[in-house]
Amino acid sequence: MHSCYLQILVNVHLFSKEGGFDFVLPENMACPPPGKFVIVPWARSWKLGVVLKAQPESQLQADRIRSVSGVVEDWPALPQAVLKLASFAADYYHANVGEVLLSSVPEFLSRSSNFSVKHNIASYLKGKRKNTFLAQQQLPSSSPAVLTPSQTQVLSWLRQQQSFAVGLLWGVTGSGKTEVYLQAVAAALTQGKTALLLVPEIALTEGLAAQVRARFPQEQVATMSSNIAPGARAAAWLATLKGQARIVVGTRSAVFAPLDNLGLVIVDEEHDASYKQQEGARIHARDLAVMRGRISNCQVLLGSATPSLESWANAQAGRYTLLRMPTRAHVNAVLPHIELINTKVAASVQGLSEPLAHALKIRLERKEQSLVFINRRGFAPVLCCEACGWIADCNNCSAHFALHRASTRKGYKLICHHCSAQQAVAQACPVCGNKDLLPKGQGTQKLEEKLAQLLPNAKIARMDRDSTRRRGASKAILAAMESGLIDILTGTQMIAKGHDFENLTLVGVLGSDSLLMSPDFRAEERLFALLMQVAGRAGRAERPGQVLIETRLPRHPLFRELLAQDYEASAKRLLVERENLGLPPYTSLAVIRAQASSDSAAQGFLTQAQLLASEELQNPHCSTSPGIRLYHPRPMAVPRVANQARWQLLIEGRSRLVLQNFLQAWLLKLRELKTAKVRWHMDVDPLEI
Ligand code: ADP
Ligand code: ZN
Ligand code: ZN
Repeated sequence: MHSCYLQILVNVHLFSKEGGFDFVLPENMACPPPGKFVIVPWARSWKLGVVLKAQPESQLQADRIRSVSGVVEDWPALPQAVLKLASFAADYYHANVGEVLLSSVPEFLSRSSNFSVKHNIASYLKGKRKNTFLAQQQLPSSSPAVLTPSQTQVLSWLRQQQSFAVGLLWGVTGSGKTEVYLQAVAAALTQGKTALLLVPEIALTEGLAAQVRARFPQEQVATMSSNIAPGARAAAWLATLKGQARIVVGTRSAVFAPLDNLGLVIVDEEHDASYKQQEGARIHARDLAVMRGRISNCQVLLGSATPSLESWANAQAGRYTLLRMPTRAHVNAVLPHIELINTKVAASVQGLSEPLAHALKIRLERKEQSLVFINRRGFAPVLCCEACGWIADCNNCSAHFALHRASTRKGYKLICHHCSAQQAVAQACPVCGNKDLLPKGQGTQKLEEKLAQLLPNAKIARMDRDSTRRRGASKAILAAMESGLIDILTGTQMIAKGHDFENLTLVGVLGSDSLLMSPDFRAEERLFALLMQVAGRAGRAERPGQVLIETRLPRHPLFRELLAQDYEASAKRLLVERENLGLPPYTSLAVIRAQASSDSAAQGFLTQAQLLASEELQNPHCSTSPGIRLYHPRPMAVPRVANQARWQLLIEGRSRLVLQNFLQAWLLKLRELKTAKVRWHMDVDPLEI
């Protein structure tokens, strides 16, 4: 019998170039296929590994060869499509394949430091029937709705597709995209296939999963997102691997869910920035979802009321099929009426504009619910001294402290939103001694307070990162809203997404101008999507909705498009801008970010990187030079965070291919640079530059 050497992924570091090992299998064991799980001895314990490759001999020295303890026979191999996707992602994002793939395997199974895999796996297999994940919950079941004509069109388009195809489901808020998803899943299951549904936010996972469970009470539905308790997470993943769960609902890492025989991929709110991972392997789950559909040769539905400009351009170019759902599904629901309040001229009551205050009062009298959105948590974004202009700044970052209400006692504290440092509020200005320090601007906490003063009888709740830290907290707030225990819900982005409250008829928006002024090239695209989305919370059922947006810039073209709820006009204008400025989707970008304790170290590294890049571009064998544009290193928007200087270097390619070819060659050289004092990473298709 031949020997069998395995390349095994045990943890993220092991597979890196320096730390490579091969594993040899005992002679009497059959060689496992790629994707199979094995147990390997590791630091006086065991670890779970995934076979990447099996070969009859090893290139490595004897001291780099270890032996395998056993193969996890009870588990099927990871589907080949998942392995392929991971390897694509590792190449494309220039990340480590371990980092990409193992981030999707529950930590509980793969990375526990002192963990006897054999023992734990056995206890899983035994105890699985008791697991809450597998217990069928008693839920009211739902039956398929009679489809609207546009829903019917989307589903019949899906039915006509025999192979990989991407549909961009452009449906206004309330157009009934969820019903389309559910019936599309039903069709996939009928064909004996599995379905993957991605949502942008942890909070939305449970909501969609509940609807899926209600529709398919006989199916196990696996939910995958980071807030799920480790045991339940591992069980859901394992049930998927074993083919027991045929439907997965999850956030971005679920794009690697071990579903075999995939028949449908759905990405809800496909424009959402949360699909892009901002640390570790910087993958974009929406883009990988499309790739997963290509690998599995199945259909992909990207749903949004305000598609990303990238997807919109793909639909315009005919690469995706545009599927429109232009009206609300509910018989009597119409799109909300949007109005601007010019805060330069409007009167104000308790710091709220008079028209908004008035509208809130009326809702309260009518016993209807309202939502007031502001994109800032805390009490106020700045604390300053009016006498001398001093501002409370974080010592570790180039940023102001935000003023927060202390949660337990009365009083306030300062919190840095970049490094989380906290400080007591000074009694007096440290520069001039003035005792009247003034909060400037407002956040959710101040808004909540003002609303309570304005409408003392209203039941008001706040939903932001601070009020939802406890597990289950956001669920509780949403449930209270659902059952009518809340009259006015205030909060950040969190309240903008997905929720469907029948009795909600008013949405107020504060402070959107600050988002419009942001230097980020996606600022307008994001703000338009956000405002359409938050506006879309109003009037989803019987009663019409009203949306009031406070602004000092009522003439901005973005507001004109918003009033007309004309996504198409907005996309068209923004795409012309992008084309003129040479920005995505007309070019491809990558950025290298470096951080170090000093500016000179971070900048110095990027200057070296820039030098290497220009050498590479002058290399006569370099085929990409005409399509590559290299920028100079520059400090990031917040140049210092947690005492680290942060710099970045931008590279622009004429196309994805040109950029990829160049990055490949460049990174080989870059990785040779000595960088002891500098931490750096590459971000392909960055969201912010
Ligand atoms: P979206 O995700 O597009 O914003 P939802 O899927 O939340 O919209 O649907 C909005 C509302 O319309 C929900 O209350 C849903 O029950 C209802 N709905 C969806 N499809 C239909 C239909 N075919 N007939 C009647 N009501 C529908
Ligand atoms: Zn002062
Ligand atoms: Zn800080």
